[in-house]
Amino acid sequence: MALLNTFPLSFKVRDKRIAIIGGGEEALNKVRLVAKTSAQIVIISRQIEADFSGFAVQCIERGFAVSDLDGVALVFVAEESADAALAKAEARARNIPLNVVDVPAECDFYTPSIVDRAPLTVAISTEGDAPVLARLVRARIEAMLPPGFGKIASLAGGLRQRVESLIHTGPARRRYYEALVTSPQVEAAVAQSPIAGRFQAEVLLEQHQSNSEATGIVWLIGAGPGSEDLLTLRAQRLLQEADVIVHDQLVPDAVVQMGRRDAEQISVGKAKGHHSFSQAQINTLIVRLARQGKKVARLKSGDPMVFGRAGEEIAALRKAGLAYKIVPGVSAALAAAADTATPVTLRKVSSGFVMATAHGAEDSDLTHWAGLAQSGLTLALYMGKSIAAEVAGRLVAHGANPELPVGIVVNAGRPQMTTYAASLRSLIDSDVVLADGPAIIFVGEAVAAGDWPNAAQIAAQNFKVA
Ligand code: SAH
Repeated sequence: MALLNTFPLSFKVRDKRIAIIGGGEEALNKVRLVAKTSAQIVIISRQIEADFSGFAVQCIERGFAVSDLDGVALVFVAEESADAALAKAEARARNIPLNVVDVPAECDFYTPSIVDRAPLTVAISTEGDAPVLARLVRARIEAMLPPGFGKIASLAGGLRQRVESLIHTGPARRRYYEALVTSPQVEAAVAQSPIAGRFQAEVLLEQHQSNSEATGIVWLIGAGPGSEDLLTLRAQRLLQEADVIVHDQLVPDAVVQMGRRDAEQISVGKAKGHHSFSQAQINTLIVRLARQGKKVARLKSGDPMVFGRAGEEIAALRKAGLAYKIVPGVSAALAAAADTATPVTLRKVSSGFVMATAHGAEDSDLTHWAGLAQSGLTLALYMGKSIAAEVAGRLVAHGANPELPVGIVVNAGRPQMTTYAASLRSLIDSDVVLADGPAIIFVGEAVAAGDWPNAAQIAAQNFKVA
């Protein structure tokens, strides 16, 4: 393994001074960085050119004097001048760590990229080699840590003694702190005011004190249509926290693997026609796991509340008196709409959008949908791939116009996405074999407003792309 040539530290600057030699843009960049600290910042230059007015800094417009470094903890040199040379020499003579902007060879230290959730700080350094990479990494970490995270860290710091006096074992304390930093109630309260945050933290503390056994919870998490980057940040965070991940067959492995490395993974494999676990068995499983005090991520494709049997699972958890939370996900129809730039609602064309299951639909449903499609609404049919032609036939039989546009998206939101364009009539007559994978079938006028450029045309003459 390559050895580090620098060592990351958190350097105390409280009640100290940071001196910046230079008055231009480079100096301003450094001010932006060090202004995040409580240090007193002094800028010394014969020419103060940049606008420092937005920062609490002291500007001294004159040449450098050696006494300027009295009580100084760090020196930044951000100009080339005789004053700068003097300042460098003085800093070295006094052993004050020195950073010379853009001259790595002269630097005692580099400034990392910072994610600031004070008092929580994440510093990213590439030893000065690849600042662009550091910025990219920083953007990712920024996205992972909610903005109020620092306030929660302060809250945790302030509660330390109370937690120690009330909760006596290490693991139970760890569970409390974990609950504290992940509780949406605490997050919301902290955003309101420190007092509200403290109140919620106390409420949580009381719960943990009366029940210092681990408290289980089931998160019903939408995994989106099957690409890792269509997972929400919240889903990602909770997957990292879960002790067990219970997932459906439709959730790709790459998404499941975003969970904590040592989390147990249970596939309940509900593929069409292969129900390896019945719904009742799944309900029993998640109740049992949560009763054992585990944090259970019940990972479902798309959105859990859309054809996800969430209703049954929630009912079972409610009955067992267990805690649960729902995390929304990108439902397949929305991914399909995005893939094909199809506005499922469209002014003057489609005043609404219906997500419906084609599988097991009764004649009365079809009459109803045919009427809706006829009046301009867009239908998004789930679970209809193997019966697409039949459903098209039934819609027409129940009054839908056979010329209504149809668009089929197989593997929406995934790299191997494929599309088909048709009308109800052409679909009825076709014996097309759709690609492998789950599919959404859109029916309605608005479909013609989408982009279906590489769509396999099912009896193309009937399909009018706008
Ligand atoms: N909760 C899921 C739906 C589960 S039902 C959601 O909100 O998306 C399973 C059906 O969803 C499949 O039969 C198919 O119609 C649809 N589906 C799931 N993933 C899909 C995908 N990536 N592309 C197209 N359709 C998908």
